[in-house]
Amino acid sequence: MEDRSATAFHDIGLYLCRAPDGELGLRVLVGGGMGRTPIVGTVIREFLPWQHMMTYVECILRVYNRYGRRDNIYKARIKILVKALGAEEFARQVEEEWALAKDGPGTLTEEELKRVSAYFTAPDYEPRPADEGEFERRIAESRGFARWAGRAMRPHRVPGYRAVVLSLKKTGVAPGDATAEQMEQVADWSERYGFGEIRVSHEQNLILPDVRAGDLFTLWEQARKAGLATPNLGLLTDIIACPGGDFCSLANAKSIPIAEAIQRRFDDLDYLHDIGELNLNISGCMNSCGHHHAGHIGILGVDKDGEEWYQVSIGGADGSAAGHGRSAIGRVIGPSFKAEDMADVVSRLVEIYLENRETGEHFVDTVERLGIAPFKAGVYGTPVRTKKEPSEGVVADA
Ligand code: SF4
Repeated sequence: MEDRSATAFHDIGLYLCRAPDGELGLRVLVGGGMGRTPIVGTVIREFLPWQHMMTYVECILRVYNRYGRRDNIYKARIKILVKALGAEEFARQVEEEWALAKDGPGTLTEEELKRVSAYFTAPDYEPRPADEGEFERRIAESRGFARWAGRAMRPHRVPGYRAVVLSLKKTGVAPGDATAEQMEQVADWSERYGFGEIRVSHEQNLILPDVRAGDLFTLWEQARKAGLATPNLGLLTDIIACPGGDFCSLANAKSIPIAEAIQRRFDDLDYLHDIGELNLNISGCMNSCGHHHAGHIGILGVDKDGEEWYQVSIGGADGSAAGHGRSAIGRVIGPSFKAEDMADVVSRLVEIYLENRETGEHFVDTVERLGIAPFKAGVYGTPVRTKKEPSEGVVADA
């Protein structure tokens, strides 16, 4: 099971699923969030038939409106209320409220579903199974293409098509940045090779959702020339980073130079692929726009006496396949580091993982199995400068 929307880190998370009899519904989570109080959401209903989505969510909001801390901006979040009441009591109150609202006017009907669905018509796909042979031939001929395809492509429900992720994580470019010229090219490809659609992922990459298999090789060649085909998706240099102190007035520290230093350190593709799946996320302050809490390695910029320091956590997970669908908050390994030491710190964490990993284990699995102690010992055993008790300078909660 994979969650591509980090539903466990939202005030209300709705995860589409099917009951054993095939009925479509939702798993309902509440009380997730990051910021100063990072919490993984709790499931309060394992299965809610889709017709009741609106009435059930309304009941969650009613309970929040009744008891939530709207008097205090720092505590005005569902996660704070769920923590105060306890998830079980919160769920009990929602169910009690819903017993009155169920089957009310907000209940969704087949007619309403059809009306809304009409705005989302499927593209005019032309299944071309023959394209698969051409694609396989190209894969066999070109190692570069095969390596890119292995990271950038996702299966498609229509035979002969793939979803393609374009990496905005080239070394030396701020994670998630694209120039106007690159965006023009992506727009052009979306029309030439797809149906004019481009999506943006929370990992800060671009997705062309409907590319014909026979066009993949040509797309790769063009994306490579445009600097949008680095085969690093899901790997250590596919860093999520907030704008940090270069642009954001709330920042405690810069994010982008830290991302760049790590990208340069891990610029060897063979080494990067050997390390395997590893999510590294950076936030410039506790507001957590870079989702550092959910990174397998999370880096948080902190301020101490006007200086920029970086706190490191490991073992976070955002529900995606790399963490086997788990959602977790990373654990801080110890005192913070100076900017110029961050690439060394990440290198040490990776080395400790490589020394200890078992067959098939991702970085986050090894942290889960061993705990943070060996990583902590390995990192603080090296001569890096550290600072105790960094201040966080929090402005708001996320
Ligand atoms: S995490 Fe902090 S520094 Fe980064 S964008 Fe958000 S508010 Fe700004």
